Amino acid sequence: MPFVRPEIIRPPSEHASYYLPLTSGCSNNSCTFCAFSLTNLGIRDLEDVKREIDAMSMYVHHGMWVAGQPQIVYAILQEWDGRRVFLQDGDALAYPYPKLLEALQHLNQKFPRLQRVASYATPQDVLRRSPEELKALKEQKLDILYMGVESGDDEVLRKIKKNVTHDQMVEAAKKVKMAGILLSVTVILGLGGTHGSKMHVAETARVLTEMDPDFAGALTLTLVPGTQLYEEWEKGEFELITPFESLQELKEIVEKSTFTNCFFSSMHASNYYAIRGTLPRDKNKMLSQLNAILSRKDPHLLRPEFMRGL
Ligand code: SF4
Repeated sequence: MPFVRPEIIRPPSEHASYYLPLTSGCSNNSCTFCAFSLTNLGIRDLEDVKREIDAMSMYVHHGMWVAGQPQIVYAILQEWDGRRVFLQDGDALAYPYPKLLEALQHLNQKFPRLQRVASYATPQDVLRRSPEELKALKEQKLDILYMGVESGDDEVLRKIKKNVTHDQMVEAAKKVKMAGILLSVTVILGLGGTHGSKMHVAETARVLTEMDPDFAGALTLTLVPGTQLYEEWEKGEFELITPFESLQELKEIVEKSTFTNCFFSSMHASNYYAIRGTLPRDKNKMLSQLNAILSRKDPHLLRPEFMRGL
């Protein structure tokens, strides 16, 4: 099947990056809440990737457009600061290892001043790679991996079909950090529903503590039509928590997690209220903010539903 260039979905911190697709979809396309579960993994031909890198170089270094490249390449290049590259898509670390290494080597050859490369990765992608392979990727400037943890509760992970356990996520985090790669993780408030909320919070705080990432982001569950979880919700098999309950979950996760030095935020557009800070330093300040909003319970202080995004 011909490779179809994916739409740009990227972490907020990659807003200035060049978006280079290596894959489309996600290798673990089973998670019941995720739009990627509706897609299949696509692997882009390495020569095609290299041609795009060559075209990037021609444009950046010589101001020349290369025939045959899609318009989007030049649209991204016009905004690019030349420093960072984000590998698409849902888990570009699933790209076959020798090809991934070659793609990064080619990128570094053409852009020796590149600062860093980033990618989404599932815990399974990381566990599949040896410590030496991860180090070799780090040497080619793969400096940060974004990993969806979603929950630390094995029961929630089983229900959402994440295909990975709490302990495996901790193991994956250790491997990433051993290789000297920064780790940024996300967890999802409300993913345990009303029934599983308590364990979801306790185990998510525990997995975050054990993973001890450099960055952690909390998202709030947003149901996507067409996904299995959406259907479960329609049938009454899954009950959403309220916006203030999601803030209570956030507060307890901040309270119960222990980090060495982690930038923690709920700035993502899916959240009802944004906090951010470096933990442990800003823990009291962040908890005070959440306590204040939870004691007032004023809906006007929350992001309106129509302004929430995925
Ligand atoms: S949540 Fe992550 S692992 Fe699961 S389907 Fe979506 S992109 Fe893939």
